[in-house]
Amino acid sequence: MTDETDVAIIGAGPAGLIAAEKLSAAGKRVVVFERMPSVARKFLMAGRGGLNLTHTEPLEAFLSRYAEAAPHLAPMLAAFTPDDLRAWAEGLGQETFVGSSGRVFPKAMKASPLLRAWLNRLEAQDVVIRTRAHWTGWDNEGRLTFTDGDCVRAAATLLALGGGSWPRLGSDGAWRAPLETHGVELTPFEPANVGFNIDWSEHFRTRFAGQPLKGVAVMHSSRSVRGEAMITQHGIEGGAVYALSRELRATAPTTIRIDLRPDLGQAEVIAKLSAAKPSDSLSSALRKTLGLSPLAISLIQEHGPPPREPEALAARIKALPIALTSPRGLDRAISTAGGVAWSAVDQNLQLRAIPGVYVAGEMLDWEAPTGGYLLQGCFATGAWAARAILSR
Ligand SMILES: Cc1cc2nc3c(=O)[nH]c(=O)nc-3n(C[C@H](O)[C@H](O)[C@H](O)COP(=O)(O)OP(=O)(O)OC[C@H]3O[C@@H](n4cnc5c(N)ncnc54)[C@H](O)[C@@H]3O)c2cc1C
Repeated sequence: MTDETDVAIIGAGPAGLIAAEKLSAAGKRVVVFERMPSVARKFLMAGRGGLNLTHTEPLEAFLSRYAEAAPHLAPMLAAFTPDDLRAWAEGLGQETFVGSSGRVFPKAMKASPLLRAWLNRLEAQDVVIRTRAHWTGWDNEGRLTFTDGDCVRAAATLLALGGGSWPRLGSDGAWRAPLETHGVELTPFEPANVGFNIDWSEHFRTRFAGQPLKGVAVMHSSRSVRGEAMITQHGIEGGAVYALSRELRATAPTTIRIDLRPDLGQAEVIAKLSAAKPSDSLSSALRKTLGLSPLAISLIQEHGPPPREPEALAARIKALPIALTSPRGLDRAISTAGGVAWSAVDQNLQLRAIPGVYVAGEMLDWEAPTGGYLLQGCFATGAWAARAILSR
């Protein structure tokens, strides 16, 4: 049982592990406590669909993705840049490449080889990782407490406990209670990068759930995002929806519009529809003139009987209204908005209410779209907190 250490890090996700790496490299005794039987489960899950580590867009545009949190994160992202993250991955033997959209991935696409090499490095640096160690708060003497009755005294503590999404992977947001008890200001959790519920007809749901709408533009108020949207049992999800999910969440119930042929202007769509044979059914005409998929054609019909006149039909194809009833729950979201308020930490990410305790990663109150911004934010805040602990 470890009952005393220089630095205790609670949470073995990317934010906690990068801090452990930096602190141990500087000679600190570091113990990482993780409640799950193994580490970095969300990081491994992120690698399932292709681990998007970071993004290559210019720093100003990159920063704007963090919206109101950008001024807080700017110095941290400048100190641990997207290039630094790529260099780090390559230092662990994982070459990276830039995808067509500017997103950065390891060539292996998965997180597991990177994690394996990372854990080897941590072991070589004498980092102790204790799994099945579920932190619950502090005792009267300021020691960290765990569900198995262990108590640990640490000269400095980093909390890197993640948000509240996908709780089965470990980060369940239960840390809110001990922090609230100690007077730490928290903002409510909200789902980020999340799908939305839609009242699909039974016929449409049964036939199309699980199918992607490719190459569409999803529009809401003045914003339009090109990409993919996935039809689900409950509604809609996918990159183009996630990119708008912050504003959709704030205005739900609301209506999005989908442009099914964003590569064509309205006049071109009208011209193509006008060339349809009068003997063709509507479905055949849409398939032959515009190459629309059975899913896209059914989606047009899902909105009510489609007009036959080319002008009115083109208007529907270019801006098909879809009513969203509500966001899906936090447990199904890719990430979490809300958490430890920026006013609760100083510029070193140290909790004002609990000196000597630092916070990093998704548990801080920031959100960003998918595209590598989430992991970059976690690595940058973890590295920043480590630097602050070292300069104590
Ligand atoms: C399906 C999916 C795909 C994703 N894909 C990408 C992607 O491609 N690119 C990208 O940038 N981001 C992606 N993300 C988001 C990214 O994985 C997270 O933002 C990131 O893992 C958060 O890192 P973290 O270290 O802050 O927290 P986490 O990774 O959540 O780690 C926190 C750790 O703390 C532990 N913990 C929690 N409470 C306690 C406690 N009381 N005691 C001890 N331990 C505790 C948890 O078990 C967990 O291991 C994806 C997320 C999901 C769900």
